Amino acid sequence: MTWQVDVLTLFPEMFPGFLGYSLAGRALEDQRWSLKTHALREFGLGRHKAVDDTPFGGGAGMVIRADILDTALEATKPEDDRPIIYLSPKGRLLQQADVVRYASGQGAYFICGRYEGVDERIFQKHTIEEVSIGDYVLSGGEPAALILMDACVRLLPGVMGSDQSGVEESFSSGLLEYPHYTKPAQWDDYAVPEILLSGNHGAIASWRKEQAENATRQRRPDLWESYQGNRK
Ligand code: SAH
Repeated sequence: MTWQVDVLTLFPEMFPGFLGYSLAGRALEDQRWSLKTHALREFGLGRHKAVDDTPFGGGAGMVIRADILDTALEATKPEDDRPIIYLSPKGRLLQQADVVRYASGQGAYFICGRYEGVDERIFQKHTIEEVSIGDYVLSGGEPAALILMDACVRLLPGVMGSDQSGVEESFSSGLLEYPHYTKPAQWDDYAVPEILLSGNHGAIASWRKEQAENATRQRRPDLWESYQGNRK
């Protein structure tokens, strides 16, 4: 089944962007996922196809109009159960668990904001999930949508070389991932940890777990705390 993405944006030409390359690009060609863009500009008003206006109450910047967004949504929104997601720094902070949930569904419909964002009333009329990709402000939702798609697409069946690689990596176990090494075994003064050459799979697994736990404790006390909480 094809994982379907729709994007409502002022800049359709930004897609598929970097997702046209590598594993995601091949998966797009192979129709493991599909991408359809909808140009918000087409729903704009007047000769200039304006989609935004100045904020009530004053202040800098422009706000995307709710009526225009609504017309665009009504004309292009999914008829299936896919979530409508507005990328926003005010949204719920994206976690790997959300990515897993989105990837296991039918796909998603993304709304990309620009300028100061969108008129708040759009959220009163439509059921829209607001998702943030981090505590910093971008100039538009397009890169955020691409990042969310990237995280989902690599989890789709058949996209990554080995389906196991999605299971072991950072966050999926609540821990950061253990370190990786490849050939040569000895490089300059630096040797690969000997245990990895031992062929003892049990010992390697416990070494990796210990490494993952140490890295998480040192680098991400927040993750470490909830990991310990979940083990109790
Ligand atoms: N004035 C807004 C920021 C607007 S940034 C505020 O302070 O909350 C312009 C657009 O970029 C937003 O509408 C949103 O779609 C996108 N964007 C910016 N930062 C983002 C983030 N961290 N995560 C997801 N989308 C973001």
